Amino acid sequence: MYHTSSNIVDQAQLLSIWRNYLVYEGIKEIIPLSYLRYNEPMKAHTTFQIGGPVDVMALPTDSEQVGRLVAWCRAQGIPYLIMGQGSNLLVRDKGIRGVVIKLEQNFAAVKVEGEVITAQAGVRLAELAEQAVGFRLSGLEFAQGIPGSLGGTIYMNAGAYGGEMKDVVDEVEAISEKGLLHTFSREELDFGYRQSVFHTNGHIVLVARIRLKRGEPGAIKARMEEFARRREEKQPLEYPSAGSVFRRPAGHYVGPMVEEMGLKGYRIGGAEVSRKHAGFIINTGGATAADVLALISLIQARAQERYGIVLQPEIRIVGEK
Ligand SMILES: Cc1cc2nc3c(=O)[nH]c(=O)nc-3n(C[C@H](O)[C@H](O)[C@H](O)COP(=O)(O)OP(=O)(O)OC[C@H]3O[C@@H](n4cnc5c(N)ncnc54)[C@H](O)[C@@H]3O)c2cc1C
Repeated sequence: MYHTSSNIVDQAQLLSIWRNYLVYEGIKEIIPLSYLRYNEPMKAHTTFQIGGPVDVMALPTDSEQVGRLVAWCRAQGIPYLIMGQGSNLLVRDKGIRGVVIKLEQNFAAVKVEGEVITAQAGVRLAELAEQAVGFRLSGLEFAQGIPGSLGGTIYMNAGAYGGEMKDVVDEVEAISEKGLLHTFSREELDFGYRQSVFHTNGHIVLVARIRLKRGEPGAIKARMEEFARRREEKQPLEYPSAGSVFRRPAGHYVGPMVEEMGLKGYRIGGAEVSRKHAGFIINTGGATAADVLALISLIQARAQERYGIVLQPEIRIVGEK
């Protein structure tokens, strides 16, 4: 044990601090210091407002930085995780070892040419939908209210109210784990239900081309307002969450299943099955990832017992166990 003036630090902690210091030093050559966060609490970067600290968070400003960072992580044997808005992430309480590469407003350039929008992965999808109205472009109305980044929503093939990313994405520029750039055609993207080619190939989405159609701004806006109204009516937007927790099993809806199992409003610690939409788990204040995971396990066990269905999480569960 080493005694410092204010606290007691054990040897393992000291080693970990030293290792993190070395990581931090190397990254500075690639990402300017002002775009790095050290020991950053992930709860500040997830819509669940849950998650322990990541060793280093990097906020790249261009594709070259992303490429160099990924190559550097690989060379050093340091794990990395790519994220956008953290609206589909449950980060465990011990946090994340390694580097989180967050693509957000630094990486959010948008260009509109005719009916095609070319945008960087960090732009918020809902913001893109708002911009489309201004250009009299229709097709992204469904995206109003989906709180992810363009990259994250392509990765997940996010969708709502009869629309999904698959319907509008024309082409995606992405970088492989080995740092190779590739432009994926619509066919190569292999979109399915909350699924894309990026689930298996580990590429990072950098830029996407979205093809829309000419529309009348009043009508586009009216559709978006209607979707917003429906969302507000059905979803517990007043609480932190990560949206629907489970993938929809064939022939069933998760919300009504959970309700039938008597778990609506059920609470573990600060995590609660939403009373408004039983497919959501909400953070009522101070929930830990352990609380949410315990609730997920309970729902899964009951669903298996009652329906013989294995519910699969839609949210991505990451971080140190
Ligand atoms: C209130 C609420 C409502 C929601 N409603 C919907 C809905 O209607 N429909 C729906 O489909 N989803 C919905 N979601 C879930 C969420 O918004 C989507 O899953 C969204 O696609 C996540 O995007 P993100 O940028 O937040 O990704 P993150 O949560 O940051 O990451 C999710 C996954 O995407 C990967 N990823 C992120 N960026 C990239 C990138 N650039 N390249 C490669 N991989 C990347 C990450 O590694 C991770 O595995 C909702 C969530 C909330 C909180």
